[in-house]
Amino acid sequence: MAKTDYYAVLGVSKNATDEEIKKAYRKLAIKYHPDKNPGDKTAEEKFKELGEAYEVLSDPQKRAAYDQYGPDAFDQRRRASSGAGFQDPFDIFSQVFRGSGGSIFEEIFGGGRSSRSNSPQRGNDMRYDLEITFEEAALGCEKDLSIRKEVSCSQCGGSGMAPGASMKSCPDCGGRGQVKVGNGWISMVQTCQKCAGTGRIPDKPCASCRGTGREVKTVTVKIKIPAGVENETRLRSSGNGESGFRGGPPGDLYVFLHVKPHEIFEREGDDLICEMPIPFVTAALGGEMEAPTLQGPKRIVIPEGTQSGTVFRLRGMGVKNVHGHGTGDLHVRVMVEVPRRLDSAQKEKLKEFAVLCKQNVNPISESWLERIKKWMSGLD
Ligand SMILES: [Zn+2]
Ligand SMILES: [Zn+2]
Repeated sequence: MAKTDYYAVLGVSKNATDEEIKKAYRKLAIKYHPDKNPGDKTAEEKFKELGEAYEVLSDPQKRAAYDQYGPDAFDQRRRASSGAGFQDPFDIFSQVFRGSGGSIFEEIFGGGRSSRSNSPQRGNDMRYDLEITFEEAALGCEKDLSIRKEVSCSQCGGSGMAPGASMKSCPDCGGRGQVKVGNGWISMVQTCQKCAGTGRIPDKPCASCRGTGREVKTVTVKIKIPAGVENETRLRSSGNGESGFRGGPPGDLYVFLHVKPHEIFEREGDDLICEMPIPFVTAALGGEMEAPTLQGPKRIVIPEGTQSGTVFRLRGMGVKNVHGHGTGDLHVRVMVEVPRRLDSAQKEKLKEFAVLCKQNVNPISESWLERIKKWMSGLD
């Protein structure tokens, strides 16, 4: 057997604090607990190893000995006493988890539909991730979701019984609904798999569901997505989760919306923002442009002398508020485009234009030069 590095087993550094060691152990012990990995020998070994590592590293004296002599300090003891030198890994496990309310053990390993035997139980909730377009989120839409879920068996109505059958005590658990599992150092009480904790099974099971009372079906769920939903919104579709058990109500379906980004628009709350290039001649002389909106193109007037970065606000052309508080605006930010690849005739005209421009045509430059002058004179 290879020499074991207990620090590596727990995935912590040699300088790890007691708290770090405990935290690492908790996390890994849950992951490798045999109850979560039934029949998995590797996980079982790993769990045992974690217990050993934790036993040593959580005890200051043992840890010091280990740091000095390495695993040899414990190897011999382990061999000599064939395992008895170490505690039962389950003892350590329950020690570490004790004080966290007692029920954590059951919470982690008890499973959802366990102990409370024959009473009706609510079905499980389900999650569905749905990608929608920017427009669908902004304007609202309806979607048909195709969902595979557990429902009550249509043959036996969920009872698990064949026609004319009756219920008898479960032979696996003797009607207790729980069984002891494991061998040697593993011994735990688990919900009986055969009767799902009810303690009773049909003497003749339903042929369709083999007595489980459940079947997996693909169903179509219609959902309405309200206008104005934002990315990562979670919608609840009540009662569209898995069917309940023994007549219990169904769970809910949670639809997580993922909104695809848009080519042109960005969203800020209920407002839309878009950048629009305009020719520099239009910017200088003024004119009309067609701005894109979610409702189609809309003409906007560009006044004479419009500068790059000017924002035009189109009231009410944004997104409808999802809670009904009005509608946002569309902000169109213009960028004045400088022409490229001019031919010689075009260049000639611009040069003529430049000669004609003496003063008072470049307001931003003028005020900027003024400020430079003021600043320079202040430096003397
Ligand atoms: Zn049973
Ligand atoms: Zn059935």
